[in-house]
Amino acid sequence: MRHFYHVIVLSGLLASCGGHPSEDPSFYFGGQIVNPTSDYVVLYKGDQALDSARLDANGTFGMRLDSLPSGLYNFSHRPEFQYLYLEPGDSLQIRLNTVAFDESLVYAGKGEGVNNTLMDLFLEAEAEDQVIRESFAALEPAAFRTRLDSLLQRKMQRVEGMQAEEPLSEGARKVVASTIRYRNYFYREGYPVWHRRLSEDRTLHPLPGDFYDYRKDIAYNDSDLTFLRPYYDFMKFHIANMAYMGCKKACDSDVVQGRNALHFNRHQLAIIDSLVPQQVLRDNLFRAVAFEYLLKHDTEAHFEIFMEDLELRAARNRHLGEIQELREGIRNLRPNRELPELYVQNQEGDTLSLANLAGNNRQTVFYFWSGPEIRHLRNISQRVRSLQVQYPQHRFVGICLRTEKDRWKEIVDSYGLDPANQYWTSDFQGFAHKLIVYNSSFKSVIAQNGRVVDGFANLNSSF
Ligand SMILES: [Zn+2]
Repeated sequence: MRHFYHVIVLSGLLASCGGHPSEDPSFYFGGQIVNPTSDYVVLYKGDQALDSARLDANGTFGMRLDSLPSGLYNFSHRPEFQYLYLEPGDSLQIRLNTVAFDESLVYAGKGEGVNNTLMDLFLEAEAEDQVIRESFAALEPAAFRTRLDSLLQRKMQRVEGMQAEEPLSEGARKVVASTIRYRNYFYREGYPVWHRRLSEDRTLHPLPGDFYDYRKDIAYNDSDLTFLRPYYDFMKFHIANMAYMGCKKACDSDVVQGRNALHFNRHQLAIIDSLVPQQVLRDNLFRAVAFEYLLKHDTEAHFEIFMEDLELRAARNRHLGEIQELREGIRNLRPNRELPELYVQNQEGDTLSLANLAGNNRQTVFYFWSGPEIRHLRNISQRVRSLQVQYPQHRFVGICLRTEKDRWKEIVDSYGLDPANQYWTSDFQGFAHKLIVYNSSFKSVIAQNGRVVDGFANLNSSF
């Protein structure tokens, strides 16, 4: 028995000696949310949910996760989300008030240094954005570059200074430095277009030969950065620019001037294909281009060509099914199509199809809201009330998504909504995919006689 005991203790010691002897491989993530907008906090790695925790009556929550790799994660408290950097052994507490989500977010505990720094950089960047786009970008290229360079240097120096007080790990430093650098590169990418607009030049300004020097430092194959927001935002912009520049160089000036969406987006597919080997980033960029293009309402014939090209270049893309579904959904929402087969319930619990609800000659306008987004509900209800006065011949029908049925009834009651025009469904996926409702914005669907009149209407702009 004694032997056995020794073996266990010894192997336990050995196991804890690998690399960082005293480090606990687990993470703790918890905190308090003031004015919660939903019942949960969910932690993600990329687009994969790892864990969720329910808020208690005081808005506090906590979750412990075993042995995950160091890197970027993100958490959501619907409808908001923010990313964070975690390392094994971290014990991170957040405190935030949803009334000013980002501005109020503070981290405490082991791991606070890097996360508070990222948050400061994020808020600083929000404040600088307008100045750079509107004032700096009006300057000539060399002066613009000097301004941006000194901004970059100042931030880097500040981080170095903090490093002396509270050293960050190498991984954390990389994420912080990349945040600063790629935001900077983002503005370099945008300069020619913004400058042309501000100076009212007809053509792009000639740039000094070394203006794009930073492009040789761009990482196209670094999985640590894939989910870093400033890096991803830069990458999308950069791909679009490379596509535009490549087109200008290689294609007919008629095509370039014509801003043909299919043509330009096929250039984007080609650029991603040739430039980005990192699989997750590549998949995400293909998805971003596809979604943006498909939601622009081109013709069926053009969609056909685009999809063939995409499927050729991105045959194993993990978002391909979703992209194909979107394309199919858009086709089914073209005017005169039968309404997709979707069902809702009324206050009495009867199930009705959308085609039933819009079965007569009167135009029915479907709009969408969800329980956790009360501010949005207030805005949209106000808009609907004024439209009802302007368009008394239309029927406006609210459909509640992503909300418990009892909670829906409560809200309809307490916000004075007309129960005869309010319906509920548990089928968020179905509505999201078939009616292309991804977030509850002002998107609406107008139907008549069971058929689509306008599948991409908007309560603010279509009336
Ligand atoms: Zn072209």
